[in-house]
Amino acid sequence: MRAKIVAGNWKMNKTLTETNALLAELSGKLPDTDAEVMVAPTYVNLAAAVEDVKSSTIQVIAQNMHFADNGAYTGEISADMLLDIGINTVIIGHSERRAYFGETDEILAKKVIKALEKNLRVVFCFGEELEDRKSDNHFNIVASQLKNALFNLKPEAWSNIVLAYEPVWAIGTGETASPEQAQEMHAFIRKTIADEYTTEIAEAVSILYGGSVKPANAKEIFSKADVDGGLIGGAALKADDFIAIIDAI
Ligand code: PGA
Repeated sequence: MRAKIVAGNWKMNKTLTETNALLAELSGKLPDTDAEVMVAPTYVNLAAAVEDVKSSTIQVIAQNMHFADNGAYTGEISADMLLDIGINTVIIGHSERRAYFGETDEILAKKVIKALEKNLRVVFCFGEELEDRKSDNHFNIVASQLKNALFNLKPEAWSNIVLAYEPVWAIGTGETASPEQAQEMHAFIRKTIADEYTTEIAEAVSILYGGSVKPANAKEIFSKADVDGGLIGGAALKADDFIAIIDAI
């Protein structure tokens, strides 16, 4: 009953020419699947990407947005700008935004509120760092990330939230959380939401795993009960790898 989702986060990769080529290949090879398939190209190529996939079921989503409606925010992009070019979903809180661009839980809470107010669906990313796991603090960190950015939301807002648990130590490192570690954390996330809201809300929210998912490990990770799909970085940049991951769900 929960949506299954495979989303490719292209980060700062792919020129327009490469974007067109990858989307042509992906649309051509897309397998029959119950999962929602999403790709997040860079801002400058979003409008072209929307055009590229218009006769496919692939959804183009954004990697980030600002919390202000508009105004003097040089270099930033608003929700309305995304909506106007046909984007309906935005990633918020990616660990690279947190680490390199100073995005705090407080900023992320504002972004989530603005996105939802504009009727954008949010893929909200969070996850602990290596020291947190080593010091056995990972559950506390994840609980506080959820609480600070999301637990001010009204219950009905949760129907537009997708969660992406991405342990920072597994992103782009080749090191993946084991399927058991992913399941353990996803179950904890669901319980934390159930305790704060209701079991129904917790059971309905899709929780993706992200961090070095590749064709070789996707099936086992996706087989876990509380893992509803993946947010894929490096392996989303090659059509055959991304297709294999979609096939694994
Ligand atoms: P990765 O990135 O698959 O390259 O580890 C995942 C992500 O950052 O979303």
